[in-house]
Amino acid sequence: MTHTVIDGAYVVTVDAHGTEHAQGHVVLRDGRIASVGAGRAPREVIDGAAEVISGTGLLVTPGLINTHHHLYQWLTRGYAQDSILFDWLVSLYPAWSRIDADLVGDGALGAMAVLARSGCTTVGDHHYVFPRGGGDIVGSIVNAASTLGVRLHATRGSMDLGASDGGLPPDFAVESTADALAASGEAVTTYDDSSFESMVRVAIAPCSPFSVTADLLRESADLARSLGVRLHTHGAETVEEEAYCRERFGMSPTDYLESVGWLGSDVWMAHCVHLSGADIDRFAATGTGVAHCPSSNGRLAAGIAPVRDMLRAGVPVGLGVDGAASNESGQLGTEVRAAVLAARLRDGADALSGRDALRIATMGGAQVLGRADQIGSLEPGKLADLALWRIDGVEHAGIADPVAALGLGAMPPLARLIVQGRTVVEDGALVRVDEADVAARVTRASAVLQSRL
Ligand code: ZN
Repeated sequence: MTHTVIDGAYVVTVDAHGTEHAQGHVVLRDGRIASVGAGRAPREVIDGAAEVISGTGLLVTPGLINTHHHLYQWLTRGYAQDSILFDWLVSLYPAWSRIDADLVGDGALGAMAVLARSGCTTVGDHHYVFPRGGGDIVGSIVNAASTLGVRLHATRGSMDLGASDGGLPPDFAVESTADALAASGEAVTTYDDSSFESMVRVAIAPCSPFSVTADLLRESADLARSLGVRLHTHGAETVEEEAYCRERFGMSPTDYLESVGWLGSDVWMAHCVHLSGADIDRFAATGTGVAHCPSSNGRLAAGIAPVRDMLRAGVPVGLGVDGAASNESGQLGTEVRAAVLAARLRDGADALSGRDALRIATMGGAQVLGRADQIGSLEPGKLADLALWRIDGVEHAGIADPVAALGLGAMPPLARLIVQGRTVVEDGALVRVDEADVAARVTRASAVLQSRL
């Protein structure tokens, strides 16, 4: 039986005790973490290893987990640069409604390439635009993740509330309720793998209160629960959404989502910027998760989510980049620092530490995606998903606290990204794809989409 050893690194386990080893080792075997410990690896472990990675100058953390994205938006970066959410959406719906499976595949490859190069081992995606005749879009995303070698939590999203029925999206961008439900069930039965080592999970994800009918929300919840998969949507992102819900339903977004069965430990919602104290308590009591997306919230001037209060109340909080049309960076590693800065701008210096933000980006994400037993921390038996950050370069050499290199400093370059024991990034470069080819595919696909407008 062969194994890999990472020896002599600064190891941050993100276990329940916050265990760190200033000089530690990690042993990987058969795609899992075999052991983690202080000091150098024992001689006999080194001698029998297939590979020994020198940990000198490295910070080792669990792989980062992205809990919210719209990978297809990689093809629509740089549009509507100064708009708030509703205006931005209205600007972009026409382009998005002209996508197809081939274009989405190229965009997803670009978006996931950048995620991987920024320390992300598990990619959550929320895809909710399915033009008629657009082909197998979920399949394209699954293929792109497999090509790169990253773990995927896809969602089959939907919109069925067009402008003529009082929704925000134009009628040409929405599906019928029945079509959306049928396709959601089919995506789960075709692609979801519920095993411990699963590389592809699929959840069901109607888009938002202002683009989906109450019937679709209710029936999606019933469908997901009958299939044993999770539920995802956007919630309480902007003051305009709050006003929409109060006018149309006579209640806040959280009250409305609760009224259609959407609070629960099998649900996670993106943003949750505008939650009251009572809303936070209900999220905590029900175990409803939150995908915190600080850069996107800044880009769209949505506000700053009350992450400090959510964490104090016990709400599961993960980190997300959100779609690249509202976060042209698309890097998850930089969101760790962004989360710290945003929380402190809102609630003061003790609102969130760099270590708190790293925990959100790892174990928090694992909890939000229902994978806390499998990923999110470096503990024996868990899947071997790790990020090895180089912190002996000019940006970080001499820093007093290696964890601050990631939590407060420039995003460190990756020495390795390992997913299920397999190397995905080495010395900052993707090893399973030609990066120039990915860039060329994104350039071409973006131009094709623009030519359809
Ligand atoms: Zn989003």
